[in-house]
Amino acid sequence: MSESGKINLKGLTREELVGHLAGIGKERYRADQIIRWLYLQRVTEIERMSNLSRSCRERLESFAYIGQIECLREQIAQDGTRKYLFRLNDGHTIETVLIGDKSRLTLCLSTQVGCRMGCSFCLTGRSGFERQLSAAEIVDQVIQVAEIIDAGGAARGAITNIVLMGMGEPLDNLEEVIKALEIMKYADGLQFSSRRITLSTCGLAPQIIELGQRLEVSLAISLNAAYDTLRSQLMPINRRYNLATLMAACRSYPHTNQRRITFEYILFAGLNDSLDDARRLVELIGSLPAKINLIPFNEHPELSFKKPQQKQITDFMEYLQRHNLTVMTRRSKGADISAACGQLREAVGGKSQ
Ligand code: SF4
Repeated sequence: MSESGKINLKGLTREELVGHLAGIGKERYRADQIIRWLYLQRVTEIERMSNLSRSCRERLESFAYIGQIECLREQIAQDGTRKYLFRLNDGHTIETVLIGDKSRLTLCLSTQVGCRMGCSFCLTGRSGFERQLSAAEIVDQVIQVAEIIDAGGAARGAITNIVLMGMGEPLDNLEEVIKALEIMKYADGLQFSSRRITLSTCGLAPQIIELGQRLEVSLAISLNAAYDTLRSQLMPINRRYNLATLMAACRSYPHTNQRRITFEYILFAGLNDSLDDARRLVELIGSLPAKINLIPFNEHPELSFKKPQQKQITDFMEYLQRHNLTVMTRRSKGADISAACGQLREAVGGKSQ
């Protein structure tokens, strides 16, 4: 709600739209028309929904509006990664990152202003939590970046993949995130299939189970350590849901050999990059269909962690491969504009003017 207490049409599920339309005596199929206007045509005014009758538009306008977040700044890294700073209606700001990689154009969305999970290697977490994003604010990041792309201001082509890996812990904002993802999947809207959406979590075990029961999307776990003492040191969430609890939740999440769970493992020099750590990781994953995403830490002046030597990275990766794990190594993209993993925090620490 905003704009004098009206409902933002963006961010409503189809069923919610149907309910509001029923309240003004309008047919169910009008919801499909509105969805096409909002997410395919990306209109910003109800007035422009020309296949709705004038009286229908007027009645809609009496209680609803189309909200928008505003792009304040675009930064472009040397590797082509783009970072957008958006202002929300209450003045808070969030960041969204667009990453081009071969044939993919992946948009990394924020789900909260700040984060309360406190991971020790993450600048977002260090700056604290401000508030949850609404489903509309999550979905609108996709719409606004698509607009910028179409206007020729960004990389060519359409966004192919969505990852929930920006500011915030998506499962700490479960209801709004589920709504936003449901909306992004509409075939007459943004059209992202479940295979092209990945939700990354630090490990809120009960919510992982609930997500698996309610929505089909790919799951990624920010793991970073394969034994409890180290993981609890790096990620406080592990004190609430330890590795045994987390892995049980992962096993319960719908997965197949074709649709594996991704485990992200940031390699920190001298902390979690030894062959003993690799052995513990192999044991932890066991027979679960999984992909391991190794991310050499991206050094930052405010963090004391160090990036491992290339030999450590190669040895670690080869150990996992010899034990039949599918491994990818990924360089953090956009490091020179602080768009890399764990570096998003522009928004936290006060509202923009
Ligand atoms: S890594 Fe993710 S969950 Fe952890 S503090 Fe940062 S944003 Fe939050």
